[in-house]
Amino acid sequence: MVEHIELDLDANAIVDVPAATSLTIAGSDPSGGAGLQADLKTFQQLGVYGMSAVTLLTAQNTRGVTGIELCSPKFVEKQLQAILGDISPDSVKTGALGSVEIADVVAAELSRVRVPIVVDPVLVSKHGDLLAGEDMIAGCRDKIFPLATLITPNRFETEKLTGVAINNDVDAERAVDLLLQTGASAILIKAGELDGRSIHYVFVDGILTRVSTPRLESGNTHGSGCVLSAVITGRLALGSCSLFEAIQFGLTQTFRAIKTNTIVGGGIQPAETRVIVRDAD
Ligand code: PLP
Repeated sequence: MVEHIELDLDANAIVDVPAATSLTIAGSDPSGGAGLQADLKTFQQLGVYGMSAVTLLTAQNTRGVTGIELCSPKFVEKQLQAILGDISPDSVKTGALGSVEIADVVAAELSRVRVPIVVDPVLVSKHGDLLAGEDMIAGCRDKIFPLATLITPNRFETEKLTGVAINNDVDAERAVDLLLQTGASAILIKAGELDGRSIHYVFVDGILTRVSTPRLESGNTHGSGCVLSAVITGRLALGSCSLFEAIQFGLTQTFRAIKTNTIVGGGIQPAETRVIVRDAD
């Protein structure tokens, strides 16, 4: 005896979705809060078709990282060639790259791409812990930054890359001058807390702007750097906005994500991508 049910669905109504596509080249966080998982969730919220090439695997949860394995550079290259040989992304972002050899193949593949490239260096954590060797700091600066439409270093990465600790606007001007020498076109420095506000220095089209947002005590910051650069990347793929507008949109959406409590473990809670909206209110 077999029960039959017919679902009366409309096979003729075609639903259009935006054609925008974004690619992230990043590491995996299996607990879903950072890395390529955060990027893909963010792209999805924006209505952008997301793609990912994996550079490294972590074993981690909200409490910390317990293991890391790098992909072979050859296999990163294979992933990128498979994607780029078939689909032209409208924007690309890079996150953790893992090794200079991986940075080399990523640079070689991206040198053929003519769309906005957002580079989140992922070299030093927002708490000051080194996430990559000294050789990677030079590798990222020399190989990846020259291809970048925008780089998004935090205060510790900026200090590693330039030797400048950012405590005021004059420090930011000096750091931006030095970062421009790497070949990056535009810069977003996540300077952290200054004067009780969360400070970002944005250099776009020759103008340096200090953008401050209220300081949040929520502590839901796991993956927030990934989310910020992914929102900017996805927004650029959708088009019809300037880079500066995309950055402001990224800061607004990331603020929403950090403000939202998602209790998914006993450690640092993730920035919640599900509250990201495509159209700013
Ligand atoms: N990429 C991966 C794979 C990570 O595991 C992390 C942090 O855990 C990051 C990037 C950077 O995360 P955040 O956005 O918190 O700086």
